[in-house]
Amino acid sequence: MVRAVYFDNNATTRVLPEVAEAMLPYFTESYGNPSSIHRFGSQVGQKMFEAREQVAALIGAADPVEVIFTGSGTEGDNAAIRGMLEARPDKRHIVTTQVEHSAVLGLCQHLERKGYRITWLNVDENGALNLEELRASLTNDTALVSIMWANNETGVIFPVEQIGAIVRSRGIPFHVDAVQAAGKISVRVKDLPIDLLTISAHKFHAPKGVGALYVRRGITFPPFIIGGHQERNRRAGTENVAAIVGMGKAAEIARERLAEDSARIGKLRDLLETLLLESCPGSRVNGRDQNRVPNTSNMSFRYLEGESILVLLDQVGICASTGSACTAGSSEPSHVLRAMKVPADWLQGAVRFSLGRFNTEEEVRYVNQMVPSIVQRLQGLSALGKLGQQERSQPEQLRPSTTGARG
Ligand code: PLP
Repeated sequence: MVRAVYFDNNATTRVLPEVAEAMLPYFTESYGNPSSIHRFGSQVGQKMFEAREQVAALIGAADPVEVIFTGSGTEGDNAAIRGMLEARPDKRHIVTTQVEHSAVLGLCQHLERKGYRITWLNVDENGALNLEELRASLTNDTALVSIMWANNETGVIFPVEQIGAIVRSRGIPFHVDAVQAAGKISVRVKDLPIDLLTISAHKFHAPKGVGALYVRRGITFPPFIIGGHQERNRRAGTENVAAIVGMGKAAEIARERLAEDSARIGKLRDLLETLLLESCPGSRVNGRDQNRVPNTSNMSFRYLEGESILVLLDQVGICASTGSACTAGSSEPSHVLRAMKVPADWLQGAVRFSLGRFNTEEEVRYVNQMVPSIVQRLQGLSALGKLGQQERSQPEQLRPSTTGARG
């Protein structure tokens, strides 16, 4: 049987056994509605409060009531942006970046079509923002700034503290999509100039379909699902109790193990990159020189197609991702790598390896055993890849110069 090596933890993670165990009684025994006054309800309400405290602790919120449970990271992002627009109806301008997840990108494109003005901040070749460009973009008409903490494709971390200081100095609300940061790096929202922050439970070993939106006390935030009184009137609807309990447990574990896990996973990621750059001529790491979350590696294999690499990797049990959107069967190059101006011959051949708590050094070495032969095989099939192989077999001084190429 082919083994399975799961290097796609930015897509989703495995639910921890402790998390599943914590959830189980909330399907079977403690099935009350947390809004009910009787014991079935109050017991559940209390457990939900504990989960809120655990989530608040993971993100370093001052008060658990600043945490609103949501149905996903996408919901949190949408609620934050729409909420700020509704709270400031006279303002028609939003600042965001070109490299956001589709949860922010897609909504801002939609709002642009509806007549809002959007500033799409650029990133440089390394994936870094220009803070002067941010400063210059802010106007009296700006309703909010929404910028991600860590990029889901490259792992590049944006300096949210510096960004927040600039945004706050203009009195503008600042929303941070921290879906790929929570559980990977320290998030202390109470010490940072951040007003709203989104996280998603399935990225840190809790189930899918539950998340949280942090809203700093004092920020005017209108209800975004209207109905009952749940979530302090901000998000109506009977709560997904078991999932919320699971999210709380996973948040507690993530916080306790953060330093140890990040250090170990970071070493594995660095080893993977070192080995693959060495064993695969014509490979590079996108965003390598930036501060990145420790688990993410975005590698390009020159002249190749990421999807073809993924199919062959899957045949030997390795699960990774291109990190790019596939529309109706035709693969579009990643908007993140395009924004980073990754040259055309590297653009299509991107593969994202995202490691997690369950990965081992032995798995990293297995990947390094498999990838070079897959890359060579595909290079042999591609006309440009063949050219690359010939170039590399020529003496160094005869090779044409390559932009950003390594190996
Ligand atoms: N934001 C980022 C940066 C993400 O990586 C994701 C999911 O991959 C989301 C938002 C959306 O989260 P969810 O899958 O919970 O809707």
